[in-house]
Amino acid sequence: MPRVDVDRILHPRSVAVFGASDSKDKFGGRIMHFLVHHGFAGEIYPINPRRSDVAGHKAYPSIAAAPAPPDVAILAVPADALVTSVTEAAEAGVGCCVIISTGFAEAGDEGRARQSALVDVAGRTGTRLVGPNCMGLIVPHHHLALCSSVVLDTDRLRDGAIGLVSQSGALMVSIFDRAAEDGIGFRHCVSLGNQVDLEICDFVEYMVEDPGTEAICVYVEGLLDGERFRRCAAAARRAGKPLLIIKTGRTAAGVVSARSHTASLAGSFEVFAAVGREEGAVIARDPDDMVRAAHFLVRHRRPRRGGVGILSSSGGAAGIACDRVSELGVPLAKLSPATRTQLEELLLPPQAMNPIDLGGRKKPEDVEIAGETARLLFDDPDVAYGLVILTSMPFFARRTKMIGEAAQAADKPVMMTLTPGAAANAPRQALRDLRQFYFDRSEDAFRVLAILSEHDALRAAPAAAPARPPDLPAAGALGALSAGSLTEAEVKRLLAAYGVKVAREATAPTPEAAGEAAARVGFPVVLKAISRDIVHKSDVGAVRLGLASSDAVATAAREMAAALASEAPETRLEGFSVQETVAGEAEIIVGARRDPQFGPVVLVGLGGIAVEILKDVALAPAPVSSARARDLLDSLAAAPLLHGARGRPPLDLDAVVDAVVRVSWLAADLGARLVDLEVNPLIVRRAGQGAVAVDGRGTLTDSHTEEHST
Ligand code: ADP
Ligand code: MG
Repeated sequence: MPRVDVDRILHPRSVAVFGASDSKDKFGGRIMHFLVHHGFAGEIYPINPRRSDVAGHKAYPSIAAAPAPPDVAILAVPADALVTSVTEAAEAGVGCCVIISTGFAEAGDEGRARQSALVDVAGRTGTRLVGPNCMGLIVPHHHLALCSSVVLDTDRLRDGAIGLVSQSGALMVSIFDRAAEDGIGFRHCVSLGNQVDLEICDFVEYMVEDPGTEAICVYVEGLLDGERFRRCAAAARRAGKPLLIIKTGRTAAGVVSARSHTASLAGSFEVFAAVGREEGAVIARDPDDMVRAAHFLVRHRRPRRGGVGILSSSGGAAGIACDRVSELGVPLAKLSPATRTQLEELLLPPQAMNPIDLGGRKKPEDVEIAGETARLLFDDPDVAYGLVILTSMPFFARRTKMIGEAAQAADKPVMMTLTPGAAANAPRQALRDLRQFYFDRSEDAFRVLAILSEHDALRAAPAAAPARPPDLPAAGALGALSAGSLTEAEVKRLLAAYGVKVAREATAPTPEAAGEAAARVGFPVVLKAISRDIVHKSDVGAVRLGLASSDAVATAAREMAAALASEAPETRLEGFSVQETVAGEAEIIVGARRDPQFGPVVLVGLGGIAVEILKDVALAPAPVSSARARDLLDSLAAAPLLHGARGRPPLDLDAVVDAVVRVSWLAADLGARLVDLEVNPLIVRRAGQGAVAVDGRGTLTDSHTEEHST
């Protein structure tokens, strides 16, 4: 049984510091110093056999000699002494050991053995572990600094409502310090390191429940339990708390098979991002962006709808802002007639619209106009976000202050940027006095705006479980399927059973039989070699299109067999497939794969031979609803083409949506047997005329195969 819970670890009544000293050159010395300096109000037990007191606190020769077992002990002792120290702490009844020491699983075989010894101690005694290889905790609202980093060399720990959970310790302290510079504080920051016991999800779950935490930022490299993380994200959404995540490790780890495009396009990062989006979490790219966005989301918790209202002292800066926000997919707000009428009293008509150029004042000498204009803009009902870019202007500091006051009064996030260098120092000070956050570079503001707008859009979409289409076979009806790679015909049988339209085809064992079968299929036909050894048939000449007679088919089949025998003699030819020629307007890929962390995912994109080059695909956890499948299609760069841009006919997107939904259910029903499955291409006809799968590829596995987490 664990002795303490996460709440007790973040709010300990007593703390022991192993290796405590007065020397700030040592880990134990710095930890001790910061713990005392930042005013921790509980008991402090320095552990040091050579000292009678440290930093004004009575020291103890061993943890067993301390007057009572502390809730938390922090250890920065050398790796080879660590297991002994942790064992002593555990046996003395310590609730949780925060282990700063390095030299564990990240450091080879010897380290791995030490790490498993730690796990044993925790399991045997019930003491909890944070780390090793972490930087500890910073809990400003509890005046608790359990960390040796120089960033704690400050007057005070800035408190706030943001929780930060970071796998990396160095990143945690850097984020903490940068945020402090920005005037942004945290409720608690935790670094997890190797996560031998307590892991990221333990703290995220806690912060979702903790009434004082209003937004959660996470830096994650690898998850121990994908499903648990997904549940955390869903809980954060239900609690109305923004969850912002940075995920590294965009590698191909976890991709079991590279036999399909889906396997390489739906890598572990892409799947993580898709699952995050599905649960309303935003994946950010930069830690400072993440924290700044969290700052705005905490200040303005009301859901928003609408676009961005831009105000600048420069027509040029306003123009850049317009271009960039539209590239980032954030709409410009359409100001109401009432707002425009009021703006026209202050500004010349061309400037009295979004974006507003403050240079176009009717009375150029009127200083007050800056504040009034800002207020009118921020109050417009279609403005969900304010974006202010100030270059320089007469009465720079005074006008900046007025705009800052309007930003403070607005019940929506306003991102202010002061672009000049030293010339903006006085205006910056004016904003700091107002406690109005500002940016120094407009690009930083654009990225934060994009995060806010994505967050709001994700949270506005309802979280609904998809309904199973009534005409699908029962989930358990798939029956026995052999493991390994499937032939095109085997995949198409599965697809057809799930209601996906497939090209009419006949299979034939010999070239002559293929010729005869072609007459029954109807000319012109497509001929393909059947072999589970071939991954991409066109690459080896195993697809022939437009064959118009039985003779042509038989001849082509003989040529195909001969070419395969000479160029790829190990290929086992199982016969030939003769298919109707499907005419259409576009080739789409619909794929599915089972991710070892998150289970089945479905992917849709522009198919054909360009798929891996253009990478114009979108994915989501399977199964998906029709609405989600349509969102995926609409998110493709090629979406306008599918909708009929530039004189092209609109395509049957309903049929594509239907195929995506059905493939997603097939993937879900295949369960642990699925490795990957792919339709490439699904040939799409004009609106109302359907879509047909002409190629299928798939790999299944023995469902008992051990799965490894990434
Ligand atoms: P592979 O992907 O293994 O190279 P495909 O079966 O996808 O082989 O065939 C290659 C291409 O030939 C397809 O992308 C499609 O353009 C075309 N094609 C294949 N089958 C048909 C068919 N039945 N009707 C029309 N075109 C087809
Ligand atoms: Mg293909």
